[in-house]
Amino acid sequence: MKIIDGKKIAENLRTKIASEVKQFSRPPGLAVILVGDDEASQVYVRNKSKACVEVGFYSDQIHKSANITEEELLSEVTRLNENQTIDGILVQLPLPSHIDSNKIIEAIIPEKDVDGFSSENVGKLMQNKPFISPCTPKGIMKMLASIKCELRGKDCVIIGASNIVGRPMSMELLNAGATVLVCHKDTKDITNKVKTADVVIAAAGVAHLVKDDWVKEGAVVIDVGINRLKDGSLAGDVDFNAVKDKASAISPVPGGVGPVTIAVLLENTLTAYKARLIDS
Ligand code: NAD
Repeated sequence: MKIIDGKKIAENLRTKIASEVKQFSRPPGLAVILVGDDEASQVYVRNKSKACVEVGFYSDQIHKSANITEEELLSEVTRLNENQTIDGILVQLPLPSHIDSNKIIEAIIPEKDVDGFSSENVGKLMQNKPFISPCTPKGIMKMLASIKCELRGKDCVIIGASNIVGRPMSMELLNAGATVLVCHKDTKDITNKVKTADVVIAAAGVAHLVKDDWVKEGAVVIDVGINRLKDGSLAGDVDFNAVKDKASAISPVPGGVGPVTIAVLLENTLTAYKARLIDS
């Protein structure tokens, strides 16, 4: 059984990006907007900004009060759309309930939408003509490539159907030639469905949901879940200790999908930067 080392994969990608950045006269710039004081979001934003600085990007952290109006947030996005030193814009989700997240995401011009959540960028992924694709699924494809997991003709089961993980993940796998089943909270007999999978992607947000009797012998198991347990520790959606002896490869939490996702955000920012250089 192989443990897929997300930290190592992320480090390799960052090294590659940093050496490319050294050749540019202006650094790629990423702006991250945080609204409110959610603790987990603050940690994510700090990690993203730190990763930017490490590879030589310019990082702009914009912290707004939870009382900001939708109008004010939209004008902040417009200001960043027009700012020539900024190549990527990311709005940390979730936003307060009085703000329509979708409206904010669609306000970011697709050329700077480094999360890949806008309908234009999702549409491109869906048509198998990707430009900037959502970071977590794209990172998982790198993790599968790192263990030389050939996806063509494989049966893949995704647990979770969100816009940021499950759905774009299904497109990535389909584009790679796999047969894909997407399960969610209303799926019947999920255990037997997961048991058919050569590759399992767990992204439900339920700690230790996937047990050893859900997983086929030799399956590859990728754990996207980040769940905070009562004792303060982090747990994935997979019961790692039980499943590891059945899987041929498995990603841990922490140290799996999380670091790769952040490295892909940097890669997406670099893609946006290069595309804007060509256009200007
Ligand atoms: P979400 O809440 O938006 O979506 C969860 C999905 O799982 C839904 O489609 C829901 O129907 C399904 N689901 C919920 N309970 C289920 C169950 N018991 N059985 C089957 N399906 C079920 O969540 P999300 O934003 O997609 O995130 C999922 C998990 O991944 C969370 O733990 C989140 O913290 C984590 N996450 C990690 C990263 C990373 O970089 N590692 C990135 C994004 C999300």
